[in-house]
Order: sequence, then C-alpha cells, then structure tokens
Amino acid sequence: MRKTKIVCTLGPSTNEFDEIVKLLRSGMNVARLNMSHGDLASHQMTLDLVKKARKELGIPCSIMVDTCGPELRIGNFENHKILLNKGDKFIFTTRDVLGTKEVVSCKYPALLSFLKPHQKMYANNGLIEFNIVEITSTDIVCKVVVGGELSDHKSISIPRIRLPLPFINEKDEKNIEFAAKNDVEYISASFVSRAEDVLEMKECIKKYGGRQEIISKIESVDGIKNLDSIIDVSDGIMVARGDMGTEIPIEQIPAVQKNMIQKCISMGKKVIVATEMLESMIYKRRPTRAETTDVAQAIYDKSGATMLSGETASGAFPFEAAATMARIAVATEKIINYDAEFLASYKSSHENLNAISYSACATSRAVGAKAIVCYTDKGKTANMISRFRPKAPIIAITHDEFTFNKLSLSWGVVPIIVKEQKTLEDMLSIANKVAKELKIANENDKIIVTLGIPTSEKGTTNAVHIFEIK
Ligand code: PGA
Ligand code: MN
Repeated sequence: MRKTKIVCTLGPSTNEFDEIVKLLRSGMNVARLNMSHGDLASHQMTLDLVKKARKELGIPCSIMVDTCGPELRIGNFENHKILLNKGDKFIFTTRDVLGTKEVVSCKYPALLSFLKPHQKMYANNGLIEFNIVEITSTDIVCKVVVGGELSDHKSISIPRIRLPLPFINEKDEKNIEFAAKNDVEYISASFVSRAEDVLEMKECIKKYGGRQEIISKIESVDGIKNLDSIIDVSDGIMVARGDMGTEIPIEQIPAVQKNMIQKCISMGKKVIVATEMLESMIYKRRPTRAETTDVAQAIYDKSGATMLSGETASGAFPFEAAATMARIAVATEKIINYDAEFLASYKSSHENLNAISYSACATSRAVGAKAIVCYTDKGKTANMISRFRPKAPIIAITHDEFTFNKLSLSWGVVPIIVKEQKTLEDMLSIANKVAKELKIANENDKIIVTLGIPTSEKGTTNAVHIFEIK
C-alpha cells in the first residue's frame, strides 16, 4: 500500500469525467485546481466532476484550490503567444496595449519605481531572462538574455524585489470564496512570505464560512526566511520549486527542500514537494532517470506527498505520469527501513494525543503489527500518527465525509468511511473486518487500534489496544 500521496493538477488534459476517473485509478490522491489559469465557471465544472468521480468510485480524494497570490502577470498577445530570441528588445508597459513581438502590458505602475537598469526579470519559471535597459514613465525596456516562448497572462518575477502587493487581492478573495462555498478540503496559498499572510487567509476563509486547511506555498526568499513561523500557523507547506528556483540560486533548492520536509515532519504538518518532478513526461511516455531519482529522493526524505503540475494538467501522458509516480513511490518505500528510522522522530510533550500516537507506533513496531487502526473525527489522530512515519499502514476510520477525503493527503493514511460506531465491540469488529478486506492482515496477525473510552465521548482518543485478527 503506497504511503506517499500524489497531488495531480487538473487542466485541459484532465478535466473530463472519464479522465478524472482514470487519474483516480492511476493514483491521484489530491486534485489541484490552479486558479492562475482558467475561469471560475470552468473550475466549477471540473470540481463538480471530481466530487462525482470520487463518490462513484468510493476513492477518497481531496480537492485543493491553488490561489494566484500576489504575483505580477502580463496581459494578452494578439496571437496568444510570441517567440523571443536572444538580443531582442522587448517592452513591458503600463499602457493598455494588446501584446506583440515588441511589447506587452503589465498593469502595475508602482513596479516602475522599484526597478533599475541592469536588473534581471524572468518569465516562465525562470526560463526566459530579461535584462532591464531603461525605465521610462510607462515602460520597462528590456533586452532578451535567454529567449523562449511567452504566452498570454504569464507571470513574471523579479528576484529579491519586495513589491507592496496585497497578499489577498480581489481575484484571490473570489477564489477563497469559491473554495469555501464548494467545501473543498485544502487551499494552497501562493507566495506566502510571512505568518501574517496565513492568518489573513484564515480570516478570509472564516468570513466565507469555510473550513479549509491551508497549505502555504514557499516560493520566495522571505518565505524561506520565515519558514518556522509560517509552518507554525499552517496545516502544511508546499516546496514550490518552480518560482523558488528564480528567487534563490538553483543549487540551493535541494538543501532547502530537505530542510522543509524535516521541519514539517517534526512539527506534524503536511508537506508536498512540487514542480518539474516528471517534467519531460509532458511530451514523452517515459521520464528521465534524473526525474525518477528526484521523485525517489523526496520519498527517501519521507515527504508526505509529491506533485504533478503540467504533466497532468496539459501534458500528453497525464495518466502515465501519475501511474509512474505511484510506481516510483511504491518501489522506493519498499526498501526504506521505517522501523529503524522511527525512534529518532519522537519529541516529547505532555499532550495526551502526542503520547498516544507515539505509543501506537512504538507498540506496533514492538509487536510487529500489520496495521495501526485509528478512529478519528476530524483526522487529528491520524495526522499525529502519520508524523512518526511508521512502517505499518495507518487505517483511519471516520464517519465524516469531509475528513475521509481530507485524509487522502496524509502520508501513510488509508481513509475508510463507516457509519458512526457506538460500542467498543463494534469498533473492534469493524477494525477486524477492514484489515482483512484490505488484505493487510490475516487471522492471528496483530493490529493496533487507537480509540477513545468511553466510546460515546467524541474527540477523546486515550487508549492503545493490541488486537488479534479473528
Ligand atoms: P505554481 O506553484 O505551479 O502555482 O507556480 C508551484 C511552484 O511555483 O513551484
Ligand atoms: Mn508558484
């Protein structure tokens, strides 16, 4: 049973019902809607199809709405895209123009006062590079240093420049309202640079009556600098290597990624490694060896999830990409000795759930249990167990559909939905049945069950039980 979860970005290649079903069957655990592309009406259609597909298949799947964030975007081109060559002169202007090979609009007048000649600007996640030659009252005149294709509405970045953009702009407020109204499980927040950004988003979610968890995308120098305080107030983070790669020297990304994964695990937060993981599969059926190893490395480091972007959104082989990622995960997990690495992760605290989740993992390891079964309302117990990255699969039994889908992002967790159980005998007999049905345990095998006694009280996990399968 695969432990590492897979986030798939949906897009033109995967927004039909049949395609979503196929992605779910190929290993998608989280469907990401990237609000930087497409409009609300089309996202609504895709979202409704994901809900329909996961229900019909009985496969848990979280939905993640990814905000645009405070980023700079260009306007549109006459023919939707242009090709820039090295040495070309190109202008970004605050004037209202339809883009050509010479000029495109970028309607953010305040930008001009932050720039100087000789500064660098990037587009397409750093693939196209510009050198600023001159600033006039309306234009940024640049020379192309590295060329490439530039298309409608692409974002541009200026490394290490802090622009006074509001963290939640009008468009993102609409996106948050959309996420809340549709009761999706997660919002991934683009360009989080400080804890206050996350708190502002929490307020905004509350304003629209939502209950979304926040995955903070770390993709700027400030975000990296304020990592600890951001993780503290977030439900998880995304190592957003795309934009990050234009903000810091590319050779620093591996160390930053490792550090982020470690911190999130020790703090019991979710963590997703994102961008270009199987990039070449946008065009080809098989990934490069380097990409395969990149995915495996995130799994060796015990990242909670790995993500596909263009590979599933607009690529030619979206299902192969998801299935390939799933296969790399399973093969890599097989050779990791989770038992041997377990104890190092324990940090003591006097909180009951901290001790219970630790004991469940330690006991499971001591008796060689085939599974850790936990009864959970909101998913907290399952997440607390997950942070120890135990060898045994974590079967999370819940009666709440929101929790059922939400837990599909949690490392090592297999969510199961059942009707509410009243007695201890019922709970144990369901654990027995589920473990057998999932083919995780046979007669006489041991499993660990965490539950709350008395069983009628909610949110009181206080017992670790060793149970023998009948
Ligand atoms: P994006 O975020 O795909 O929304 O840009 C991920 C990244 O920057 O890596
Ligand atoms: Mn990004």
